[in-house]
Amino acid sequence: MVRSPAITAGGIRFDKPFRTVSIFGATGSIGRSTADVILQHRQAFAVEVVTAQSRVDGLAEMAIRLDARLAVIGDASLFEALRTRLSGTGIAVAAGPAAIVEAASRPVDLVVAAIVGAAGLEPTLAAIDAGADIALANKECLVCAGALFNRRAAAANVRILPVDSEHNAIFQSLEAANVGAVERITVTASGGPFRTFSLDEMRRVTPAQALKHPRWSMGPKISIDSATMMNKGLELIEAHHLFDIGSDRLDVLVHPQSVVHGFVTYADGSTVAQLGAADMRIPISHCLNWPHRVATATPRLDLAAIGTLTFEKPDLERFPALSLARDALVRGDWATNILNAANEVAVGAFLEGAIEYLEIAATVEKVLERATATVGGTEFATVETVLALDAEGRRLAGEQIEFRGRRAS
Ligand code: NDP
Ligand code: MG
Repeated sequence: MVRSPAITAGGIRFDKPFRTVSIFGATGSIGRSTADVILQHRQAFAVEVVTAQSRVDGLAEMAIRLDARLAVIGDASLFEALRTRLSGTGIAVAAGPAAIVEAASRPVDLVVAAIVGAAGLEPTLAAIDAGADIALANKECLVCAGALFNRRAAAANVRILPVDSEHNAIFQSLEAANVGAVERITVTASGGPFRTFSLDEMRRVTPAQALKHPRWSMGPKISIDSATMMNKGLELIEAHHLFDIGSDRLDVLVHPQSVVHGFVTYADGSTVAQLGAADMRIPISHCLNWPHRVATATPRLDLAAIGTLTFEKPDLERFPALSLARDALVRGDWATNILNAANEVAVGAFLEGAIEYLEIAATVEKVLERATATVGGTEFATVETVLALDAEGRRLAGEQIEFRGRRAS
């Protein structure tokens, strides 16, 4: 599917657009970093579609900067606002969730899946069905759809290129000829803003504190997931599906400097890792240009200046979300689906001030417990079942949060 660029002795020659790209979630943190990478090699890419949910100004600006052919806003009430901002530019506009899914069916070489949450599932599946390779940032869609996602990708014969820095590192460290000799796969974790907090200190943390990640600049949902370490749990599930490896051979290692992003240990005792600055433009550039490497203006590692790299085991008592995710992975796709849905609702409630930080994992735990009795063991062959389970997880989480709110008042 991906066409090869013309290679010259000095690297890739960008005579004409060689890769058509659509960006879903273009106004977000990953979307903006993607635009930055594309604009550094403007001639190498033609942008077909850009989408957002409600940031209409950001979307219009992005569409113009990238010279996109179509801009789609998820919130249908913003159609007129988008049309006005793009009038006279020749850029087509559309609005509503169905229009986002439809736009994902437009033929392109690569779709950057950077919508946050399970909302990214249907557009990403539509892009897969249309035959696009996927640069996958939206880990939640893989967590909520499980094996079904991979089956769809295999049926369409498309490639899933991992944008998530840890998975991109592992992808870079995997030797195609030696996947059978992989012993263990490790994702590293910065440990987030509360790595050194006691449980007692965690009781009082605010959304503003939780949003302030020590190493990475990211959207609000993943920032909270990093603070609870649910993000690392989601990443274990993501790694399981991306690399077809069981939970018993997947490790998490806390590494506060965020220099080593992930590594693969082989049967002969070699461990192969990828290192890089904590800048998402590095894995994004890797995916956009894969299998080539293209010069990108990103910070370079200065290991002498960093001096020391440290590693420690995660503390499952202070970060129970990690165990919840690992348990869900063992229990099956229905459980990871419910875990993800409950977490999305709980994170939203925390950001709105409806629950406290420690209640995020507690809510997810309770929802998983209740869901075991009602939907436990559900297998899904269709997206409709995936979405029905997701809705059930959200409903149970809503009930749980309301129940806590009533108890507190
Ligand atoms: P942001 O919140 O910054 O951006 C999310 C994007 O999705 C925005 O364009 C937003 O539009 C759009 N969006 C939000 N809700 C919907 C919806 N219901 N339907 C359609 N579009 C929607 O998130 P990030 O860029 O941080 O993260 C995106 C994904 O990438 C997540 O899955 C995250 O886990 C993953 N990821 C992110 C990393 C990072 O460094 N940020 C690192 C690794 C993975 P609008 O702007 O209008 O709200
Ligand atoms: Mg990550």
